[in-house]
Amino acid sequence: MIGPPSCAPWDTATPEAKGETPLPTYNQEAVVLRTRDLGEADRLVTLFTRERGKVNGVARGARRAASRLAGSLQPLSHIRCQLARARTLDIITQVELIESFPSVRGDLTLVTYANHFLELVDVVAPEREAGDLFPLLLGGLHLLAAGVDPGLVSRAFELRLLAAAGFGPALRDCARCGRPVEERGDLSFSPGEGGVLCGECDGGALLRRSVLAALIYLQEADLRQIGRLAVDERDRGEMEGLLRAHLTYHLDRPLRSLAFLDTLRRGER
Ligand SMILES: [Zn+2]
Repeated sequence: MIGPPSCAPWDTATPEAKGETPLPTYNQEAVVLRTRDLGEADRLVTLFTRERGKVNGVARGARRAASRLAGSLQPLSHIRCQLARARTLDIITQVELIESFPSVRGDLTLVTYANHFLELVDVVAPEREAGDLFPLLLGGLHLLAAGVDPGLVSRAFELRLLAAAGFGPALRDCARCGRPVEERGDLSFSPGEGGVLCGECDGGALLRRSVLAALIYLQEADLRQIGRLAVDERDRGEMEGLLRAHLTYHLDRPLRSLAFLDTLRRGER
C-alpha cells in the first residue's frame, strides 16, 4: 500500500472478496500523458513513469460520478500510483495526486506548452523502459508553473528531449566535417545533416551566431537558470523555427500541439 489513507481503490471489491487470486502489484511515480474512454465506464490512461517509461493502465470505473479520484488521472497530473499486473492491460488500483499544476492548467498558452511537452515525450518515449526524460519533463512543467518564460523553457526542453532521444542537434562542431564551428565563416543549420554546418560545409539555412550562442546556452545551462537568458524577438523566432524543423524531420510527424500554438498566436494578434 502506498500513499495517505485518502487513497481509495477504484474497484472496492478486493480480488480476495471475489474469490480471485490477487494480481501482483507495483508502485510508480508518473505524469499522466493522455487518457481515453474505454468501454462503458473505464478510462485507458497512458502514464509516463519514472522507472518504466510509458505504461498504459486501465482506471476501472473512472468515468462514474462516484469515482472521486478520477480528477487525479487528468493529463499533466504528477501522481504516485499503484498498478496491478494483469494479462493484457495493467490496472490502476490507487492514485495519490502529487501536483496538478493549476497555474498551468488555468492559462491557455501555458497549458498548450505543457501539452507540447507531453506530446513530445509520448512520441519519443519507448514503452516499458526507463529514461532520463522523466526529470526533464517534471523540470519543464515546474518551470512553466513558476512563470519562467515559456518560449525559452520550450526550446530548452526540445533540445534536451532531442538529445535524450539520440537526435540532439550538433551545435559546437560541424555536423558534416566535425570541426569546431567557432571561427569558421558563415554558419548554417541543417536538420537532415544533424545540426550546425561550418562555413566550408554550408548547405542549410543561414544561422546567425547570436542564435547559435542562445541554443548552446539552452542546451547546456542548468535548467533552473534558463530564464536568465536575454534573447531578442528575431533570435527567438529563428530558434523556434529551426528547432521545429529539426523536431519534424527527426520525429517524422507533424506535432498537434505546435499547430495549436500557431492557432493561439494568430488569435492573439
Ligand atoms: Zn564543416
